[in-house]
Amino acid sequence: MQALKYDNVFLPNMKPLKPSLEELPKLARDKSKESKQFFKMLKRRTPKNLDYIVSDLHDAEFEKTDCLSCANCCKTTSPMFTHVDIKRISKHLRMKEMQFIDKYLNNDEDDFMVLKEMPCAFLDSDNSCFIYDVRPKACSEYPHTNRRKFIQLTELTVNNTSVCPAAYNIVENLKETLLNKLDKKGKSQRKRS
Ligand code: SF4
Ligand code: SF4
Repeated sequence: MQALKYDNVFLPNMKPLKPSLEELPKLARDKSKESKQFFKMLKRRTPKNLDYIVSDLHDAEFEKTDCLSCANCCKTTSPMFTHVDIKRISKHLRMKEMQFIDKYLNNDEDDFMVLKEMPCAFLDSDNSCFIYDVRPKACSEYPHTNRRKFIQLTELTVNNTSVCPAAYNIVENLKETLLNKLDKKGKSQRKRS
């Protein structure tokens, strides 16, 4: 069982989040320009195996990240609800789709269906999700670092670094991994010339 957090009291088997939610916004802001430049460069020279590299970093990060000690995404940002999500969740809650929409959702400025209020109404006091098995697809994919065609999601990913400590670490580790590789490649080319 994963560790739980109550009112900032850490239970014995709980790993603290790194970076903490208090320091994350400033760290993400400080790194934002560098990350945007890095992804701009990556779009010009995308490694063929980029999705695999990011997916490995994602898996390694979530091995040590306990989302139940965080839930910052559920507290601060709304997922997008597709019609399929609405159908599935309202059926699970034994509500009519329109009733579900009226109670929980609004249209945002881009006309996507999003939560009326944050934190999410389905977030329980122990940071678990009441509707975990039927949650929106966007929730199950968050922070979108284990998706195909990651290169198309880099702007979203930089935005997510200020919300999600795991996304922040994945981006920092990706920069370190790829910039090291490019540096080694550059050195070996210089040796040959
Ligand atoms: S539906 Fe569940 S996983 Fe999605 S934001 Fe709400 S509490 Fe979090
Ligand atoms: S996905 Fe990120 S923001 Fe959401 S609970 Fe896990 S670590 Fe926190």
